[in-house]
Amino acid sequence: MKILVVEDDMVSAKIVVKRAELLGHGCDVVRDGDEAWRRLNKPHDLDVVISGWFQPGLTGKELCVRVRERSDRYVPFIFVTAAGDRDHQLDGMHAGADDYLTKPLDLHELRLRLIAAERLVALHRRLEAQADELRRLNGKLYDQGRQDTLTGIPNRLRLEEDAAHLYDQAAKLGLGYSLAMIDVDQFKSYNDHYGHPRGDEALRAIAGAIVQSSRTGDQVYRYGGEEFVLVLQTDSQDAAVRIVDRVRKAVQRLGLQHPTAAHGVVTISAGVATMNPNVPRPANEVVQRADLALYQAKRNGRNRVIAWEANIAPMDADALVVPQGKQVASTE
Ligand code: GH3
Ligand code: MG
Ligand code: MG
Repeated sequence: MKILVVEDDMVSAKIVVKRAELLGHGCDVVRDGDEAWRRLNKPHDLDVVISGWFQPGLTGKELCVRVRERSDRYVPFIFVTAAGDRDHQLDGMHAGADDYLTKPLDLHELRLRLIAAERLVALHRRLEAQADELRRLNGKLYDQGRQDTLTGIPNRLRLEEDAAHLYDQAAKLGLGYSLAMIDVDQFKSYNDHYGHPRGDEALRAIAGAIVQSSRTGDQVYRYGGEEFVLVLQTDSQDAAVRIVDRVRKAVQRLGLQHPTAAHGVVTISAGVATMNPNVPRPANEVVQRADLALYQAKRNGRNRVIAWEANIAPMDADALVVPQGKQVASTE
């Protein structure tokens, strides 16, 4: 082990070092408590501290308390001191010492204490390694829980967490945003025709196209099933509609054959809602508006982007084509 010997008296220090070295350990010597603390308070490779009680700077007891307060790495602390009365011994142990030896230092006593210290060091290093591994696994689990397993993009849980943040940003910083609810058109019949594995492949390709064609900084989520959400960092509804229409075209350009769909290939419809930072609304209201606009896009013939407007029809409106909502349609 590597031992830090804190001892202002050089004769005593030499005795400790010699004995520790006889027992196969290496030593660094410092002559006062402040210097010892400087060494211990930054990253170090010291395994054990052997300290006297009285010394310049921090006393042995003060040093011991500080070493114990640092919880990142356990370092056994052994007093070797002339203050051998019971009060000092108790005081030292209460301060956090692992052992207490009195001078003159007996080699055998030191050997016993260092055997125990070595076991303690090994145990703590093992615990630290396990804690590191647990932290790593926790982080991995945290990420996995927020990632959609099919497409690899963030999932709905992640959207819900981010949404709370979006509201705060709007309310505190005046930053608005837009949200597109995207739904794959006639996807049930795609599955019915090609089977679910091909449907899964299509969903992966669609997610990829949405991610690729949206802007850096905008975030795509799988909302569930064949539905995706795109959160756009813009409070301009027109700009949002333009970007989402670019996304729509990118999906159409994938050219995934869909024999029973109107365009012969897989397409998406989207509803867009924008949150005005002057009137912050909870994200679920923004989602609700985007949803209404999406339904309108479906009613108007699919493969199009519709922006929410105050007079948009309710979801259960059964008209096939209702000329409401700002619309970007396409037959390209
Ligand atoms: P619309 O244009 O009105 O949206 O029609 P649609 O057929 O897409 O809508 P509907 O809600 O009737 O069907 C959605 C389909 O999406 C049904 C379901 O099987 C499919 N789907 C949802 N999640 C998955 C998935 O993870 N994998 C596959 N292969 N299909 C999925
Ligand atoms: Mg759907
Ligand atoms: Mg659909």
